[in-house]
Amino acid sequence: MDPAVAAQPDATPPDQRVDRLTRDLADALEQQSATSQVLETIGRSALELRPVFETVVRHAIRLCAADGGYVHQLNGDVYRLEVARGGRPEFLRYLEEHPIPQGPGTLVGRVALEKRTVQISDAAADPKYEWHRGQQLAGFRTLLGVPMLAEGHVVGVIAVWRSRVEPFDDREIRLVTTFAAQGLIAIQNVRLFRELEQRSGELARSVDELRALGEVSQAVSLSLDLDEVLNTIVTRAVELSGTDGGSIFEYEPSTAEFVLRTCFGTSAELAEALSSIRIRVGETFIGRAAIAGEAAQAEDLDRQPPDLHIEELRRHGWRSLVTVPLRREREIIGALTVRSKVPGALPKPTVALLETLASQSTVAINNARVFRELEDKTRQLEVASRHKSEFLASMSHELRTPLNSVIGFSDVLLDRMFGELNERQAEYVGDIRDSGRHLLELINEILDLSKVEAGRMDLELAAVSLPDLLTQGVAMVRERADRHGIAVSLDVAADLGRILADELKLRQVVLNLLSNAVKFTPDRGSVVVTASLVDGNAKVSVRDTGIGIAESERERIFEAFQRGGREARSNKEGTGLGLTLSRQIIGLHGGRLWMESELGVGSTFTFAIPVGIPSPPGLAVPLKATTPMRDGRSAAGSVLVVEDDRRSADLMRVYLDGAGYTVSITGDGLEGLEMVRRLSPRAVILDILLPGLSGWDLLTRLKADPATAAIPVVIASMLDERGAGFALGASEYLVKPIDREALLDALGRCVAPPKGKRTVVVIDDDPLDLELVEAVLAPVGWTVLCATGGEEGVELVRRERPSVVLLDLLMPDVNGFEVVERLRADPSVVDVPIVVLTSKEITPADHERLAGRISFLAQKGTFQPAELIDLVGRVASAPTIQSNEPP
Ligand code: ADP
Repeated sequence: MDPAVAAQPDATPPDQRVDRLTRDLADALEQQSATSQVLETIGRSALELRPVFETVVRHAIRLCAADGGYVHQLNGDVYRLEVARGGRPEFLRYLEEHPIPQGPGTLVGRVALEKRTVQISDAAADPKYEWHRGQQLAGFRTLLGVPMLAEGHVVGVIAVWRSRVEPFDDREIRLVTTFAAQGLIAIQNVRLFRELEQRSGELARSVDELRALGEVSQAVSLSLDLDEVLNTIVTRAVELSGTDGGSIFEYEPSTAEFVLRTCFGTSAELAEALSSIRIRVGETFIGRAAIAGEAAQAEDLDRQPPDLHIEELRRHGWRSLVTVPLRREREIIGALTVRSKVPGALPKPTVALLETLASQSTVAINNARVFRELEDKTRQLEVASRHKSEFLASMSHELRTPLNSVIGFSDVLLDRMFGELNERQAEYVGDIRDSGRHLLELINEILDLSKVEAGRMDLELAAVSLPDLLTQGVAMVRERADRHGIAVSLDVAADLGRILADELKLRQVVLNLLSNAVKFTPDRGSVVVTASLVDGNAKVSVRDTGIGIAESERERIFEAFQRGGREARSNKEGTGLGLTLSRQIIGLHGGRLWMESELGVGSTFTFAIPVGIPSPPGLAVPLKATTPMRDGRSAAGSVLVVEDDRRSADLMRVYLDGAGYTVSITGDGLEGLEMVRRLSPRAVILDILLPGLSGWDLLTRLKADPATAAIPVVIASMLDERGAGFALGASEYLVKPIDREALLDALGRCVAPPKGKRTVVVIDDDPLDLELVEAVLAPVGWTVLCATGGEEGVELVRRERPSVVLLDLLMPDVNGFEVVERLRADPSVVDVPIVVLTSKEITPADHERLAGRISFLAQKGTFQPAELIDLVGRVASAPTIQSNEPP
């Protein structure tokens, strides 16, 4: 036992003390069990207060030895009875019928007023007490009232009473206070629960709305089917607003009317009626709302100023209407409406929701309009682009035809085929030819660019030897570079071989870069071409020590018609299209073209394209032979020219080709010896001053070798040393300059001239072109017969059986395609070779139509006179039809 307690002296006799302690214990136990019962009730009846108050009052009466008790709860600004126990039924009815305001005249009123526990020892004797009727009915004397206080407000009062005068002691007051606290907990529980319930309700609604909005946005963004989207929207609008039906109208500005787009929850008859009436913007309920730009509610259609739309709705039994305008900025797009069969207005949040749906409809309608416009524009663009292509194709034909004459005749004049020109004349004719070529280049590039832009430039991919292509490219600019003392070098990595590419187009790119490099490099500079394999890409760089390109020009030079600074522009060569086209062509190959440069120091243009051929080099890819170089041909009975001066060699080729010989050329003595052994030509034309091996040495060796001793050698030299020549075994000796006649005569004395007629039939509707071909071919021994139309041409070919036919494609009467068909169908001329030269844009379809039936197909104006002579000679002497057609 606690010694301090034991030390406390107590005057009460021991058995009384035991009694009191026992009673206290019982009280405490009872109190505890009452409290736990109240708490249990609170736990059970989460939403109902009455059972809690009943438990409270019952226990309070019992534990306080009271005769009755009641609980009042604040309701508005008065306190109303919740539960009561004790007292007669009349009293209970009185309590029920008399809610109590704040004030000193009643117990509850006084507790509410003073916000604290109030005890009235004797209601009958209290001067301020006024509730005498109640007091008489119940017969109470002593009253105790305890407040239930929440945040400074008395939300309820618990009262207990005795019909005798006997004030409640402290213990009893504490007890009731405990019960009041529990009652308060119950009240707040219920309030919280209600709030929670309301919140979850709101939340659920919001979730529904969000889901609907999500669905609608998805419909708007995923579907271009406007009807489907608007249907979704009006359905959701009706569902979410809890109305019975709705519609979406689209506004038609040209008539200032709303047109029904879709309905939901609407009878077929009403839908029909709504489609047929004219809902004008200024004269209707929905129109006025649209102008105002705000939602409007017609709570009762019976009391609404009637319009066509509202009348129709009323006739079909609708009683209320909400309209939300669809607007884009100030423009009216339409209206979204929902309606009910009963009168009434929608709450604000619902209208806000409808406004959101309305803006979604606006987006949907607008999307659909934009899409329609886009489709229209695309169609128009397609037509325009077709027209443009047709225009370009015909324009290029119209331009190329006269250009062909300009270039061709100036070439003929410059080749002195009809006599000498004086210096001035030569200069002017040269200018005419250069301008013509420039124009032709321009036309070709414009056409190419327009093809790339229209997506119609197709690549003819084949395995192409990049080293060969680069070598040929360098060879083509070599002459010009030499003239300016510019060193050109080529360095190709050993592991770089064939790549998958369009040979002609890639050659165009290489040539563009190379000729730019030479063009923009001052005399005695250098141009270095390097090619290597980097990560499966063939990388080709052309570096020059030229004028360089200013920072500001670097991107612009890749744009069409952009030519660099003033210097470049004042240079008359160049079209400003080359780089644009090159970049496009490399792009089509899946590669990249770029440039680095420093002004005054030089530029490097580089492209990289995927090699595209698996290693070992693709077997499946057809190997397209690089276009044969001039001396690549070998034919039995050819004439070999060993001559290191290119101009002389070219001239001899023209003369010999024209006479039907097949010509091979070399500029080196040793190579000449090797070629004689390999080709066994019918004759050799030999220069004396040669690199490698002199003409005398070569002649000596040929005559010493039994395999070559019989081959006649014609010496053509600046030196007149006939004696030595004949002594060493030469058959003929010519002193330069050599004319055609003399060469052919000398050759003719050694070898029998090539057999066969030398007749060409030219079929072309352009008299200038006929004249041009004649001017080129007649001087070298061809008999040129002309026909100005297909019909006449076919006749001429049948009658003459020429060695070659030169044919134009576009002609007024019987066109070139038909001429080819007729000649190929006629056994008597089926084997006469045909060369088609046209100024028409050559399409893949043309290729297909002519494939296998002709020997050669080319664009007019691409040949210089010597090349035409070469081509015709070659085709005429070819044993079978050879073709430059892709397989
Ligand atoms: P162009 O036919 O005029 O050469 P391009 O498209 O090939 O057309 O080139 C456009 C311009 O880019 C040229 O006019 C020139 O100013 C500049 N350019 C191209 N290559 C070089 C280079 N290697 N050095 C300096 N400038 C160059």
